[in-house]
Amino acid sequence: MSCGACCASFRVSFYWAEASDLPDALTERVSPLYSCMAGTHSKAPRCAALQGEIGGAVACSVYAQRPSPCREVVAGDAKCLAARQRHGLP
Ligand code: SF4
Repeated sequence: MSCGACCASFRVSFYWAEASDLPDALTERVSPLYSCMAGTHSKAPRCAALQGEIGGAVACSVYAQRPSPCREVVAGDAKCLAARQRHGLP
């Protein structure tokens, strides 16, 4: 709710069947087996479901349906810290 850095740092990919819980416009197919959140398959990734300003007030517009990578994020782990650093956050 006050960060969002991880939603704008990595490709958020998952087994394609998980996409059935999400609006079509918010996912992209990246291979026969995998899909990703729209906007995250990019050199400057930002999930299309993320609302708000990184490091300010943010929200996931599909929080209840978010895919498994989003559910596995652990605040303060190495990827979290790398994402925050990427966005100039402490
Ligand atoms: S689906 Fe939600 S939690 Fe997952 S990357 Fe997108 S905005 Fe973040």
